[in-house]
Amino acid sequence: MEGMTKENMMNYNVNEKGYYGEFGGAFIPEMLYPNVEELRQNYLKVMAEPDFKKEFDQLLKDYVGRPSPLYFAKRLSEKYNTKIYLKREDLNHTGAHKINNTIGQILMAKRLGKTRIIAETGAGQHGVATATVCALMGLECIVYMGEIDIARQAPNVARMKMLGATVVPALSGSRTLKDATNEAIRDWINNPVNTHYIIGSAIGPHPYPDMVTRFQSVISEEIKWQLKEQIGRENPDYVVACIGGGSNAAGTYYHYLHEPDVKIIAVEAAGLGVDSGESAATSVLGHEGVIHGCKTLLMQTKDGQITEPYSISAGLDYPGVGPMHAHLCKTGRAEFMSITDDQAMNAGLDLCKLEGIIPAIESSHALAIFEERTFKPDDVVVVSLSGRGDKDLQNYIEYFKI
Ligand SMILES: *Cc1c(COP(=O)(O)O)cnc(C)c1O
Repeated sequence: MEGMTKENMMNYNVNEKGYYGEFGGAFIPEMLYPNVEELRQNYLKVMAEPDFKKEFDQLLKDYVGRPSPLYFAKRLSEKYNTKIYLKREDLNHTGAHKINNTIGQILMAKRLGKTRIIAETGAGQHGVATATVCALMGLECIVYMGEIDIARQAPNVARMKMLGATVVPALSGSRTLKDATNEAIRDWINNPVNTHYIIGSAIGPHPYPDMVTRFQSVISEEIKWQLKEQIGRENPDYVVACIGGGSNAAGTYYHYLHEPDVKIIAVEAAGLGVDSGESAATSVLGHEGVIHGCKTLLMQTKDGQITEPYSISAGLDYPGVGPMHAHLCKTGRAEFMSITDDQAMNAGLDLCKLEGIIPAIESSHALAIFEERTFKPDDVVVVSLSGRGDKDLQNYIEYFKI
């Protein structure tokens, strides 16, 4: 990697210019610059304020239900002859890790004097997490969603409406997530003073990937003391998480990035197979490119058109990964694995039968690695169980003909 000093390569946190190695940055239209710059200049300062920290921690405890348990999965561990611990983000209010980030960002928006919140959503999970915190704080909430997705995700659209949000259909292009993102950006350009844009993963222009990562880093902060309590040491041998944009993964890895004895495994969705043309395995299929305002690994055609990704799980159906993960991949700090729809679905059902936990299909991808790869009997493997499977019931029913 020309131009990269060793120091740069070995630092897995963002640098002051917004880069993780060669990835990241802020590639945005001129007219968005003031909004992003205001956030960049303030986010670390605001997060360091004792009042902010106090309110964030309090809400994570009393509203989200943190700390989420770290559960030793005994029967699953026996099956694979290793020690598997599940970080139970599925038990959070609204059913996944996404609420950690939306709580953080709504408090940030309030500190910056914003009164109106916008967000984009694909499957609706981030839209619901955003509508939830807007109701909590009494702020206006507008969620952009592709017209096709609105039709496909009726229950989440209903949830957002019940929570008081306005769901605006994106009618251009393929009428899915990327078009909803374009509409949200257009809205932000037109409403720079009173509006905050809540991005839902560790993606977007700097400072979003770093801000989202810091809000999600509560996950590994808790894993450290929970492991210490349970096994007498803070560090596991492995941390494992699925990656869509990469926010649950970033939070799970964060406090272990610079602990060389902790190995990192990142799990992507291979869809129908990495070479099938129906996949979302960015680390294998992606090349350097710009998406949603940052330079990262991206699935694209030879002339730079973004390739339509595919995965059975809506949360992993994304053509890129966040810039931190692109850097972890390129430097080899993280081992990337891809898991097909079939492997994930079977691993999900397995967890139901072995542990009495119905996982989100996204999380099932992370669980499927135990069929692919062996661990030593003494290895401690912490897996992020990013969400619960209630939202995926229809998918499980159709797949297994239940
Ligand atoms: C949205 C979602 C994901 C993927 O998002 P990341 O930003 O990559 O974490 C994973 N799991 C669940 C349950 C989700 O809802």
